[in-house]
Amino acid sequence: MANTKNVISLLEEKRKISKEIEDLQSKCNHSHKSVKSIKEREDASTFVIRWICNNCKKVIGIPNEHEINKYLNGPR
Ligand SMILES: [Zn+2]
Repeated sequence: MANTKNVISLLEEKRKISKEIEDLQSKCNHSHKSVKSIKEREDASTFVIRWICNNCKKVIGIPNEHEINKYLNGPR
């Protein structure tokens, strides 16, 4: 089990990084957002379409049908 210690310290690091990202996202005012398709979860293979903040990459909303269609049809 030589890797156990490594995994534990990596998980600890991951937790710290997540916290750091959360802090940055909570300070962001999400002034620039785009509709993007993203993975539903980190370990998921399914994609969902969401409003994402361009600055902090936080999911800030779910686009309505009109916005989804506009995204799928691309810019005109
Ligand atoms: Zn933001």
